[in-house]
Amino acid sequence: MKNDTVLNIEVEQIKASKIDQVDFDNLDFGKVFTDYMFVCDYSEGEWKKPEIVPYQPITIDPSAKVFHYGQAVFEGMKAYKDDNDDVWLFRPDENFRRINLSSQRLAIPEFPEEFFFEGLKTLLQLEKNWIQKGFGNSLYLRPFVIATEPGVSASPSSDYKFMIICSPAKAYYSGEVRVKIAEKFSRAADGGVGFAKAAGNYAAQFYPTSLANAQGYQQIIWTDASSHEYLEEAGTMNVFFRIGDKLLTSPNNDRILDGVTRKSVIALAEDAGIDVEVRRVSVKEVIEAAENDNLKEIFGSGTAAVINPISGFAFQDKKFELPKLEDSYAGYFKKTLMDIQYNNSEDKFGWRYKI
Ligand SMILES: *Cc1c(COP(=O)(O)O)cnc(C)c1O
Repeated sequence: MKNDTVLNIEVEQIKASKIDQVDFDNLDFGKVFTDYMFVCDYSEGEWKKPEIVPYQPITIDPSAKVFHYGQAVFEGMKAYKDDNDDVWLFRPDENFRRINLSSQRLAIPEFPEEFFFEGLKTLLQLEKNWIQKGFGNSLYLRPFVIATEPGVSASPSSDYKFMIICSPAKAYYSGEVRVKIAEKFSRAADGGVGFAKAAGNYAAQFYPTSLANAQGYQQIIWTDASSHEYLEEAGTMNVFFRIGDKLLTSPNNDRILDGVTRKSVIALAEDAGIDVEVRRVSVKEVIEAAENDNLKEIFGSGTAAVINPISGFAFQDKKFELPKLEDSYAGYFKKTLMDIQYNNSEDKFGWRYKI
């Protein structure tokens, strides 16, 4: 195959596509993967020649550092196809910047910008058929880096593997989401790795989340680790509160993931003249607002679900249900963001990136 990228990434062709075996109407999120994957190895102090090969298992030594010391970071992005069959990414420069910030915190060498973008472009040109048209359909992209050096001595790995795998996704409907406000466990602490998209941050929240699941809550809203008095994020999403007509969300800090969707929502809110305050949001004020019928909405923001409205929450033994609004901020942001992502509307912020 000929491609016109600068790097001319080498492609090992598949023998036959798996696409005919896929039921695109019944996709479980993140279960099916496409024909190809992007791979680039790091050793002897440099990232070697990147390549694209058929999707397949990889062989890693059992002593590889990723298994023992958790040097692993990742990203989550989506590719969208518009009605003219053009393929788009949404603010991929943000994902590139963030994976290197995450890497830096975990002592992983930064990945070169040219490799990242040429890798994505070449991969998406090969996988074009896997991106289904239609509002809500997308190809979920998972770039990640793992430490591959064999040896169980506790030090940063000398070898790494950077990969991108792709999974076709349908519009994400989570159903009703009720959340529990954390009062004991924390997902991140001051000076820690909460701001990084580090694999271990997820491991640390699975157990507390499973306890919340057993009580009928789908997610936890994490609070600050020292006082548990301020609301920070919803696990895999950033979180927004609407009190009256004012939109509130916590500022970023070293415990909170700097979400691309979050910063896009803040920009759209300002643009729409919505009163948005980026400041610490206390559990106390949210409960008071709920008791006074002034708490209108809580929603999460993240690439997978875009905007995920929360229908109720609990704190200690108090339970609250949120009103079902006709004109919700959540609905507005979801539609406005998706219209930009799918090339259905003007892109006045310059967020779309054409493949
Ligand atoms: C990825 C992630 C988000 C959402 O970030 P987006 O860039 O909007 O997808 C929020 N919180 C956590 C913990 C995350 O890992």
